[in-house]
Amino acid sequence: MKVAVDIDGVLLDIIIEYCKIFNKRYGTHYQKKDVTSWDFFKEWNIDEETAFRIFFEIYANSSNVPFIDSDAPDILKKLNKSHEVSIVSARLPEYQNEIVKKLRDHNILHKVHYKEVILLHHYPSDIKLRENFDIYIDDNPNLAESIKNLKGRTLLLYDQPWNQHSICENNVIRVYNWKDIALKFKELE
Ligand SMILES: [Mg+2]
Repeated sequence: MKVAVDIDGVLLDIIIEYCKIFNKRYGTHYQKKDVTSWDFFKEWNIDEETAFRIFFEIYANSSNVPFIDSDAPDILKKLNKSHEVSIVSARLPEYQNEIVKKLRDHNILHKVHYKEVILLHHYPSDIKLRENFDIYIDDNPNLAESIKNLKGRTLLLYDQPWNQHSICENNVIRVYNWKDIALKFKELE
């Protein structure tokens, strides 16, 4: 099967670093648990451009972004042996080198853990579905909505505070960590 593995919210806890930068800049006290929607910045009273500027800063230098789950590298390696794993992210293509380096720092290696990195624009928010994958591992609640109408494709929705409203049924399955992902794959294979 062709598998698309997301980066932010699935491998990297980018929002932790995001909150740190945001709080420092605007004197707030937000934490990851306060990010309860995909468009959280609207509730935080900043416009989208300002909100994304912080994401772009982190894309350019991700060294402080924590890794989500230490089980991920081993599980990813096994998945890539029996499937075709791509890392698919809405980070912009100009940040390709930075993300490959960051993944390597966390022992996620090209050809060992994944076949290729595919970077797409973040609009529309379900753009990843234009690429032909059988299984998506992603935290994006917009994907959960759109994939419901697509036969033969499955989303493992990585549990995060911003996707708690997503209803997981049929081809949308909620997963809580990478061990859970490995278990769900056994059922799907
Ligand atoms: Mg993500």
